[in-house]
Amino acid sequence: MIKTDICIIGSGPSGVSTSIMLSKMNISHYIIDKANFPRDKTCGDGLILYAYKAMLELDKDLFHSFLKNPKFIHSKKIQLFINNNLNINFQESKDREMVISYAKRYDFDDFLVQNLSEKYANKEFGNGVKNLTEQKDGILIKLKNNKEILAKVVVGADGAKSIVSRKLAGNKINKKLSSTFISAYFNDVIHLLKDNNAEIRIIYKKIPLYFYIFPLADGSANVTLGGRADLILKHNINLVEEIESIIANHSKVSHKFKKAKKNGSWRGWSIPYNFGSNKVCGNRFLLVGDAAGLTNAFYKEGVGTGMMSGIICAKKLVQCLEKNIFSEKYLSSYQKDLEKEFSKLLKFSRLMSKLANHRYLFSRIVYLFKNQVERKSFNIIKRRSY
Ligand SMILES: Cc1cc2nc3c(=O)[nH]c(=O)nc-3n(C[C@H](O)[C@H](O)[C@H](O)COP(=O)(O)OP(=O)(O)OC[C@H]3O[C@@H](n4cnc5c(N)ncnc54)[C@H](O)[C@@H]3O)c2cc1C
Repeated sequence: MIKTDICIIGSGPSGVSTSIMLSKMNISHYIIDKANFPRDKTCGDGLILYAYKAMLELDKDLFHSFLKNPKFIHSKKIQLFINNNLNINFQESKDREMVISYAKRYDFDDFLVQNLSEKYANKEFGNGVKNLTEQKDGILIKLKNNKEILAKVVVGADGAKSIVSRKLAGNKINKKLSSTFISAYFNDVIHLLKDNNAEIRIIYKKIPLYFYIFPLADGSANVTLGGRADLILKHNINLVEEIESIIANHSKVSHKFKKAKKNGSWRGWSIPYNFGSNKVCGNRFLLVGDAAGLTNAFYKEGVGTGMMSGIICAKKLVQCLEKNIFSEKYLSSYQKDLEKEFSKLLKFSRLMSKLANHRYLFSRIVYLFKNQVERKSFNIIKRRSY
């Protein structure tokens, strides 16, 4: 049996950020993933705000190599369309480079994994966690190949359907606090917005559906649709039928897809934003990223918030190791650290997401505050960005 102080389960952006931050503080640990890298992950492939902030805090060189990497492209503007006639722009000031970047997760997650420390990060990839049990002296982690790891403390970075969240925290998936999205890659989409601007539409069907077109470095586009999970179930909405109908018939969209070819199949996954209702720490465990329900309910940022939570988590872990205390009571301040960083933004986003359910009220609010929001947006962006 392997014994370690810290074991991170999941090597997506949240787990890798935890690992890189621990390595920066010279702390040895294990990091496990059921996949081998590069691996794909269903996503819109957009990186904003916290993704930049986290990369900079992890390592300036990492951030600069991200900017220089030809697989990743950047844009200064996000255009949000509500109905067909209302448009609000979130953009950078003239002197700053980008407000959004596009990176296929196949490439981005591998880029991050390549930055794991050779010295401090012991990697166990291609081998998933089968079970976790609390013992007197740690958490016993059983892998699918029957290997066992005993860790003083475990970090659950294993995504929306986290086994750590289920087994150690006893959390359940709350459909009211999660979205369901599908996405696919398309070649030959034409008339994309200029300068790689992001196109996001709130399209009102039985419920508001969020439709994204993000351009990618290889000339293809990531096309995504989704909405609140419980409403999708309640109204029996078939997301594949809905997105195919938008692509074929929507007056502002269909012309872009006249010659387009789908590359692969539609893939779906959930986006949890249950932070505040679920446990994020307890005896000998901490959760980060999707496992902690940290995505943004309105604009669905989950990569950046996950990375930032990994950094916050690593700082907490250092204190635990110094004191050799891993109790729920001692770890509970982690929840407060996360609240300090995210609460304001996540609460605001939940409010926006609720308002967006009311088509006319939301349009009226956006119409009234559009100029103010557009004028102030880069200040808000700057505070939570690079
Ligand atoms: C369709 C869609 C579009 C999205 N678009 C965007 C977007 O444009 N921008 C954005 O910021 N966010 C977006 N998100 C959200 C984003 O994908 C997640 O928030 C982000 O991936 C969270 O990162 P993570 O590291 O916490 O989890 P993940 O990226 O899910 O990583 C978890 C890792 O844990 C591993 N794992 C899982 N179970 C086990 C196990 N039992 N044992 C070992 N390893 C395990 C997995 O293999 C994986 O590598 C989107 C999500 C969806 C579904």
